[in-house]
Amino acid sequence: MLTPALTSPDGTAKFLHTLGDGLSVESVLIPFSKRHSVCLSSQVGCAMACTFCHTGLMGLKRHLSSQEITQQYIDVKNWHLTHAPERLPPTVVFMGQGEPLHNFDALKSSIQWLTDHTGGNIGPRMITVSTAGYVPGLQRFAELGGVNLALSLHSPFDEERSQLIPLNKRWNVAEVFKVIDAIPRRRRQYINCEYLLMKGVNHSERHADALRELLGPRQAMVNLIPFNPFPGAPWQRPSEDEIETFMQQLVARRLRVFRRTTKGEEIMAACGQLNTGVRS
Ligand code: SF4
Repeated sequence: MLTPALTSPDGTAKFLHTLGDGLSVESVLIPFSKRHSVCLSSQVGCAMACTFCHTGLMGLKRHLSSQEITQQYIDVKNWHLTHAPERLPPTVVFMGQGEPLHNFDALKSSIQWLTDHTGGNIGPRMITVSTAGYVPGLQRFAELGGVNLALSLHSPFDEERSQLIPLNKRWNVAEVFKVIDAIPRRRRQYINCEYLLMKGVNHSERHADALRELLGPRQAMVNLIPFNPFPGAPWQRPSEDEIETFMQQLVARRLRVFRRTTKGEEIMAACGQLNTGVRS
């Protein structure tokens, strides 16, 4: 049985999966009070080169096959079962290495297996797919059978977002939301907008106003995530006061806001920290 490569004091466990060709990817099991979550990788490295992301430094080495994606889930679930047999199987977030929608067909097959009663047997509501805004994949999102969508937003302003997510130069905020708005959603199924807070960059009143304008009319949730540092990162995490102030500014503008707890930071397993080989 695969055992975690590292575990952190908060219970987060990071797994290293070696692939048939010797490359490797990481997955992370994150403990929550009711149900654990497993964060899966969809590619070795990533082509999107987001400047806040350790994986983005690797470049894209290759896509994972659907079997390589589902095997991560099986490995982590087996370990989880032996350590917490009373718990429900973990929910799934595709927020590990890679842009999942850039590897759409393998992602789709892996979700079909995860939701099949002969496979992972978990409901589509228990699965979240995160994207930096890869429009060809968003245009096919409905094929994924009702899973949740998370958009890495990080700024409502195109010029600034393009510095964080180069993909924004190809498909800007308005174009991405035009496609997202056309995706069928269940009642009370939110568009999750991931918002990484970087000190002095994206947490002013101006940002709060623009987020209100962008997300106010939509059924959206803002997930605030304090930046998780990694070696060579050009950004810093804001202070607790700054994070709280920005959160209150969003709440005052009647946006739905959730502050994501940072887990696994000590073992480089938190959001944006995964890396199995920096590009030389
Ligand atoms: S944030 Fe996601 S899409 Fe961007 S470089 Fe990292 S893994 Fe790729």
